Amino acid sequence: MSSDPNCIFCKIIEGKIPSKKVYEDEDLYGFHDIAPWAPVHFMLVPKRHIPSMAQLTPDDAALMGKIMTLAPKLALDNGCRPYPDGGYRVVVNTGAEGGQEVHHLHVHVMGGPRPWLKG
Ligand code: 5GP
Ligand code: ZN
Repeated sequence: MSSDPNCIFCKIIEGKIPSKKVYEDEDLYGFHDIAPWAPVHFMLVPKRHIPSMAQLTPDDAALMGKIMTLAPKLALDNGCRPYPDGGYRVVVNTGAEGGQEVHHLHVHVMGGPRPWLKG
């Protein structure tokens, strides 16, 4: 399935729900999380509706590799500070016990200055 009419992230990708875009190409869409867990928090999602990591196949290796190699550049472009003093956290929640709430595969990228951390 390439798009699910009941999926909130498919609707965001299609522009039916507004979002603060950080990236777009033929395969991927990136946008800020509506309820950020960190000073910088955006998500990268495949445009194709894949419910979670559990549905990935070897054919998706390049797609997921693209996300993981794009994340560092987008993190810096969106306010994360450079490694090693800055940095960011990359998280993929999968399934109920993995804390997944939206069932369209998404990679969270979270970081940004945390004044409560020393140094
Ligand atoms: P999960 O818990 O599934 O890993 O993460 C889903 C994320 O999607 C949550 O962090 C939540 O704040 C975010 N989210 C849910 N609905 C919307 C929305 O309509 N717009 C945006 N930008 N983020 C959303
Ligand atoms: Zn979807």
